[in-house]
Amino acid sequence: MPADTPPLSRSVEDYLKAIYALTERDEPASTSSIAEALDIQPASVSGMVKRLAESGYLEHSPYRGVKLTDEGTRVALQVVRRHRILETYLSRRLGYSWDDVHEEAERLEHAASDELIDRMSAALENPRHDPHGAPIPSRSGVVEEGTHPFLSEIEPGATVRIQAVRDDDSERLRYMESRGLMPGVVVSIEAKAPFDGPIRLMVGTKPETIGFELARRIRVAPVE
Ligand SMILES: [Zn+2]
Repeated sequence: MPADTPPLSRSVEDYLKAIYALTERDEPASTSSIAEALDIQPASVSGMVKRLAESGYLEHSPYRGVKLTDEGTRVALQVVRRHRILETYLSRRLGYSWDDVHEEAERLEHAASDELIDRMSAALENPRHDPHGAPIPSRSGVVEEGTHPFLSEIEPGATVRIQAVRDDDSERLRYMESRGLMPGVVVSIEAKAPFDGPIRLMVGTKPETIGFELARRIRVAPVE
């Protein structure tokens, strides 16, 4: 980014990050889903989406709501980088628990300069994942490719490793931690009830049953 580019407003950053997060979760970025993600009224989303499209950050995508342009993606990835490095720093260096870092990072991500973020990243030896397992984009906007399936999509009989969990709900994070459902942990799927019902699994040697909605917050990869 050229040195004389003025900083974007906090709300522009929040919109682009929210749209990026919806896309990352394979959810359509519709007016209503953006409103829900930002906890605002859908009516106020439409005007902002129009402005962001006029500024070249978004384009309308048939049936999928809006889509980030290359420039929109670039900006979103920088905010995501700031957020995830802040979370990692708070957790590793300042003793925050993983269910506490998100809210703090939400506030700090708009204030921290790229210089501060780079120094935090260097002090942590340039971590590749945040405390929830999400990939941290590089300074130049490169992010680990390939999204992992959700635990809810895995068929019984399979053994998988937890890669990442959604970070935006402290209560659910505490619950997952209490059940041992954290990045790096290997789980086997024993049974799945139909129609998005509960899922029975083994977490190590411990049997667990979790709801479909929780399983939709956990990304997994095959165990090599
Ligand atoms: Zn977060």
